Amino acid sequence: MPTYTAPIRDMRFVVHELFGAADTLTALPGYEEASADLIDAVLEECGKLCEGVLAPINQSGDEEGCRFDDGAVTTPTGFKEAYKQFAEGGWCGLTASPEYGGQGLPETLQYLIDEMVGSANLSFGLYPGLTQGTIICLSAHGTDEQKQTYIPRLVSGEWQGTMCLTEPHAGSDLGLLRAKAAPNGDGTYAITGTKIFISAGEHDMTDNFVHLVLARLPDAPEGSRGISMFLVPKFLVNDDGSLGERNAAAAGSIEHKMGMKASVTCVMNFDGAKGWLIGKEHKGLAGMFTMMNKERLFVGTQGISQAETAYQNATAYAKDRIQGRAAGGAKQPDKAADSILVHPDIRNKLLFSKSIIEAERALAVWTQLNVDIAHAHGDDTVRERAGDMEALMTPIIKSACTDFGTEITNACLQVFGGHGYISEWGMEQLVRDVRITQIYEGTNTIQALDLVGRKLGLHDGRLFDGLLDEINQSLTAAEGRNDLAEFVVPFKDAVERLKATTDWLRAQANDDPDALGAAANDYLRMFALTVFAWMWVRMAEKALDASTTGDEFYETKLQVGRYFMTRVLPGTVSLEAVIKSGAVPMMALSQDAF
Ligand SMILES: Cc1cc2nc3c(=O)[nH]c(=O)nc-3n(C[C@H](O)[C@H](O)[C@H](O)COP(=O)(O)OP(=O)(O)OC[C@H]3O[C@@H](n4cnc5c(N)ncnc54)[C@H](O)[C@@H]3O)c2cc1C
Repeated sequence: MPTYTAPIRDMRFVVHELFGAADTLTALPGYEEASADLIDAVLEECGKLCEGVLAPINQSGDEEGCRFDDGAVTTPTGFKEAYKQFAEGGWCGLTASPEYGGQGLPETLQYLIDEMVGSANLSFGLYPGLTQGTIICLSAHGTDEQKQTYIPRLVSGEWQGTMCLTEPHAGSDLGLLRAKAAPNGDGTYAITGTKIFISAGEHDMTDNFVHLVLARLPDAPEGSRGISMFLVPKFLVNDDGSLGERNAAAAGSIEHKMGMKASVTCVMNFDGAKGWLIGKEHKGLAGMFTMMNKERLFVGTQGISQAETAYQNATAYAKDRIQGRAAGGAKQPDKAADSILVHPDIRNKLLFSKSIIEAERALAVWTQLNVDIAHAHGDDTVRERAGDMEALMTPIIKSACTDFGTEITNACLQVFGGHGYISEWGMEQLVRDVRITQIYEGTNTIQALDLVGRKLGLHDGRLFDGLLDEINQSLTAAEGRNDLAEFVVPFKDAVERLKATTDWLRAQANDDPDALGAAANDYLRMFALTVFAWMWVRMAEKALDASTTGDEFYETKLQVGRYFMTRVLPGTVSLEAVIKSGAVPMMALSQDAF
């Protein structure tokens, strides 16, 4: 069974030493209590919960899976009890407003918790992850009555939130969806249609379900401009808050899938179910994006979390497993062979993993700090810049961190050789579980298209320019330091490459309708590697400053950063060449020739 130890030391380095997050957060209205001590206490508590309660039921949850019987879903052994403990501990409503029973803590802290929970048990974490998105969406778009009725019970974890978008013929292209909403004449609507692939649509851990459903009103325009959002509870809620009549919203079956087997995925049938409009008519997709943007960052976190667990287990295995001898002579002459950690390729896989994970964690925390600033800062200009950074980084984090999640879990499985492929060690589960993160919440290609087709051009390129500005500001001190040159020089080269490629891409987009689509995924990866390098420059700066303490942590940080700069960042050179080959290599072949 894989083991998991919460990486609290590295999290504290990122939060406190790298970004001084507590100072930023406590200065924001509403987050005054998010002190360094409080952050540390939450990390410790969450770490214990993840190591002691959630990780031990990860493999058994995968083996047992969820069971469906006549509309009811039973989660694997131990999930119900673990969820009760999780909810009673207040973990479902950490960031929700105290007005609704939440703790009003920042998203930055939620990120760290989501990473730990995902590392310990990816399937488990999706249940509260969806509830949190529902809370955010309702808080932004619900009426006061809707907020008062539903949010407190989502915050307490008594009720489960879901997002019901996908239909059999409408996945990436939600403009095709057909679910209908007919006015009942009393301010409510009758929702009819079938939704597929609905995570947490039904299970035995909560008393009620709050489904956010996309559907069309009778007079709706075609396409994505004709979609409205409705709140459809499983049980209607009486005026006194008690559960009333059963609504006509039910799971018809559950999916049998490659991984995440303890996270139930349902076909949901809405058969004239009573629903309430959330937000404005025909503006449902825009409203749903409040939840989707939150979930996209959450899914990126899932990618980081699985990579971390895979790395931890592969490292422990590599130290223990003895096969062959070091090329330069025996390192463990008292043993029949050396540990596989002497082999360059094993080190390469582990260092690749570590250098990516640590950069991702730093980028995720930086992004979440921007989420909190965009939400709470008193100055409009500061809020706008932070919102720009959040918007720009959302597709990067969702897509790059899940692509690397799959690459890293695979690389770490390879470290185990054949033992990685059999179930006992749990590595194959990590590979299977993380795979969905590249697909749901908008496939990674859809994210890449969002980056090149939307975010780059938004407000005349303001988001990209803003990032360059942030980078320049952060480099002021680093640029003058000789001891940082090995980080700063390759990073500045990479930024120039990204700028040149961005200009090239913008020019191409005017001439060739396929240019953006052809470049999107490679461009997103190039972008991600460049901002990872930015994080490494900043981490190296802090590590050098602290290296006089003699703490090995900082020396390791520097070594891993050097690895990234020399072995990973040069990937941007080949990506530039690939991007600049344009659309012709993939579009020239006729459809019949495939
Ligand atoms: C386990 C699981 C859980 C899920 N949970 C939920 C949930 O809770 N709620 C919910 O509503 N949905 C959920 N989904 C659905 C998920 O979000 C969709 O599967 C996903 O958005 C892709 O849609 P699709 O499967 O229809 O693929 P399609 O849209 O048919 O895409 C097929 C392929 O074509 C590509 N493609 C599509 N359009 C374009 C384009 N314009 N340009 C380039 N390439 C394109 C895609 O990238 C993909 O590779 C879940 C799915 C799974 C498997």
